[in-house]
Amino acid sequence: MVGQVGFSEAHLHPSEQVPSATRRVPDRHPSSPRLSAAVVGRVITALLIVSPIAAIAVSVPLLWGHAIHLRDVVLAAILYAITGHGVTVGFHRLFTHRGFKPKRPLKIALAIAGSMAIEGSVVSWVANHRRHHVHSDRSGDPHSPHTSPRGALGPVRGFLHAHMGWMFSTDSTAPERYAADVLRDRDLAAVSTLFPLWAVASLALPFGVGWLWSGSLIGGLTAFVWAGIIRMALLHHVTWSVNSICHMVGARPFATDDQSRNVRLLALLSFGESWHNLHHAYPACARHGVGRGQIDSSAGVIRLFEKAGWATNVRWPTARRLVTLAAAPAAPALVPVTR
Ligand SMILES: [Zn+2]
Ligand SMILES: [Zn+2]
Repeated sequence: MVGQVGFSEAHLHPSEQVPSATRRVPDRHPSSPRLSAAVVGRVITALLIVSPIAAIAVSVPLLWGHAIHLRDVVLAAILYAITGHGVTVGFHRLFTHRGFKPKRPLKIALAIAGSMAIEGSVVSWVANHRRHHVHSDRSGDPHSPHTSPRGALGPVRGFLHAHMGWMFSTDSTAPERYAADVLRDRDLAAVSTLFPLWAVASLALPFGVGWLWSGSLIGGLTAFVWAGIIRMALLHHVTWSVNSICHMVGARPFATDDQSRNVRLLALLSFGESWHNLHHAYPACARHGVGRGQIDSSAGVIRLFEKAGWATNVRWPTARRLVTLAAAPAAPALVPVTR
């Protein structure tokens, strides 16, 4: 059973540990009082997953011959980079793990940019991700591929659960327990409350810019499809792949007591987040790609912020720390949960 692994929070950085004052708060929301909100959330999630497929199905015959324009690709690339780094630098390395200390305007800008990725509000994202680190690949982890029942289809079910299925679960994480510090931050709480506005802006912006740039409504629509819907969907699947693929296949150069792995193929698109084994070994580290040739554009962006004086107290890795992490005793193999 999973409990035999003997997991404790003691080895985690303070940013992943649940403050003692909030330990009385339940891990999860009781499902009944918020059932309607949960159902609405799952319907929206389903729409976000289905809409890119529908957009491609409708737009390919509609746009055939007009194909895709250079401006659509440029807009999509710019918005992918801004919203993607909003998630990796802002939501993940800053708000979840406190890998550096930002100036206030940078903090707010990163919270808005991350919200525009449409992966949920900063409060819910941080809460879910901290819970993932606290229970990584064990019962209580919201999106582990290793907590599905065993059997021939176990790995497939595990992958699907970790990739998307967990978002349809009634098991919602309590932000009061895992993101109390984010809730207390007035700026972050306000950005979080305004999440629907950032989500709409994320799709309206490419439509408006495409319309102005091309001078035609069709130009606005093609930009909406490619730089809005499809750009959003690509980033969603890359983020979800870190939850699924990076806990299933790949190298484990650092000893952790979970199944986190490094996946080189995803490094570019995930902005360095797929060096996931190092991340679980040293969660607060501002750089995830610590090996030679390991691309990590998020670390590059943090370095630029540091040089500009917008970020201080950056937790860069030291050679001594990395040697210690690599030399730590290997974790016991995990046994999947049987339900
Ligand atoms: Zn992970
Ligand atoms: Zn993390």
